[in-house]
Amino acid sequence: MLVVWGAKAEQVMITPPEMQNSRPAAATVLLIADDPADVQLVREVLAHANKALFELVHVKHIREGLDVLARTEIHVIVLTLTLSDSQGFGDLTIMLTKAPDVPIVVLSDLDDDAVSAHVIQEGAQGYLVKQELDSTSMVLALRHAMERHHMRAELDYSTRELQSSETRFYKLVEKSADGIIVVNQDGMVRFVNPAAEALFDRKAADFLGEMFGFPVVIGETTELDIIRRHGSAAVAEMRVAEIVWGGEVAYLATLRDITDRKRSEEHIRRLNAELEQRVTERTAELKRSNAELEQFAYVASHDLQEPLRMVASYMRLLERRYKGRLDSDADKFIAYAVDGAARMQQLINDLLEYSRVDARSGAFAPVDCTAVLKQTLATLQMTIEENLAEVSYSSLPTVMADAVQLGQVFQNLIGNAIKFQSDVAPQIHITAERNGREWVFAVRDNGIGIDPQYAERIFVIFQRLHGRGGYPGTGIGLAICKKIVEHHRGRIWVESQTGQGSTFYFTIPAMEPVE
Ligand code: ADP
Repeated sequence: MLVVWGAKAEQVMITPPEMQNSRPAAATVLLIADDPADVQLVREVLAHANKALFELVHVKHIREGLDVLARTEIHVIVLTLTLSDSQGFGDLTIMLTKAPDVPIVVLSDLDDDAVSAHVIQEGAQGYLVKQELDSTSMVLALRHAMERHHMRAELDYSTRELQSSETRFYKLVEKSADGIIVVNQDGMVRFVNPAAEALFDRKAADFLGEMFGFPVVIGETTELDIIRRHGSAAVAEMRVAEIVWGGEVAYLATLRDITDRKRSEEHIRRLNAELEQRVTERTAELKRSNAELEQFAYVASHDLQEPLRMVASYMRLLERRYKGRLDSDADKFIAYAVDGAARMQQLINDLLEYSRVDARSGAFAPVDCTAVLKQTLATLQMTIEENLAEVSYSSLPTVMADAVQLGQVFQNLIGNAIKFQSDVAPQIHITAERNGREWVFAVRDNGIGIDPQYAERIFVIFQRLHGRGGYPGTGIGLAICKKIVEHHRGRIWVESQTGQGSTFYFTIPAMEPVE
């Protein structure tokens, strides 16, 4: 620590460690003077000042001075000049040109303001007159010369930096893929980059000084519909920021060409519309052909009923009248024919019912499903009791539906649950759970179960997994359930494993779309 004692003990200065033991480095002064008197003068003056501050290197001529400059670091040059002749200025010019990085103080015997002004104008950093030279003015002149020179060097450096950063900025703006336009507060264009020229298909000269013509809204993204020079259209997305341009508030508009994006969006929109149109047409077609098919099934089954009834009744007549009177084969054949006719009648009735599901549907109204279920159980009471079945249910919701058809679904599902019972008494449980926008109903049994590979097939009309001998039926029940549920915009499916009971699920949209 360096302690400097002042007049009072309190005035102790503590120097930071990095500066301890360091004195200001001496500046090396190159004195160019061929007159020994001048050299003597400068030596004396500097010695008087403080030897430690300056180190003096003396040469007689400029040529030697340049040699020294090439070898040694010189901080300031003192050039003695006889300015009464033109040679003096010539020497100064040489030194200024050859040693542009070293400040020059001219020591002259001419005390003339015009001359000193000229010398300074030429580029010297100081002008001293020999006759008036004292150590203070010399030291001050040298120090100022060095400082001024240093400041000018810094200024030059900053200016160069500024210029190169400006160049970089312009390069960025030039190369930017986005259009950049600067608009002043009156809406007049002050700057345009090449991307903006390309976007508008106009030269910068056509813009500059002209009104921009589009509203500039700071902080918002706006879309500009641009009509280009030859009438073609472009779309740009514009963002605007406030900036200072040439000392004034201005707006920097960044324009992104989104013409292609817009075109593809439009293309996709058109394709979508076309697709929607096609789907609508196709759906309508399907609906029409479905309706036609149903109509056909209805007409066919309806018209078939009459001749079939005749066949059946005459077969039964034949059976009654000739049983035991022909041979035993004839009795068997007649019995087969009667049975076949009866089955055919049943199938045709089922088909008729199936084809009427949509046509028979009444208007949807709020239906209390618990009430519908109770009604169904009352209808099935005999079957339930005969089969010692146990039916339980949790509270069911009210939904928009056709009550009769909903009853039919319950009846088919519960009927099946009893029919396809295993060797223990049937236990059936009915529930409904809310799932988003719909209610999921479940009818669970402990019956024979279904092999999952048939889980979809059983909903197809007349598809059964058993022969008629095992369980009665035609295979229409689940097909009707599916048609009714889909008519109510729901879905139906089964989850089951052979021997482990089945759960039939179906959904009905909830009355309140959001729970
Ligand atoms: P059907 O009852 O007249 O056979 P369905 O369409 O109601 O016609 O049922 C189709 C087939 O699905 C049935 O033959 C049966 O194999 C199977 N199935 C329906 N419900 C059940 C059930 N609860 N348990 C086991 N199998 C069932």
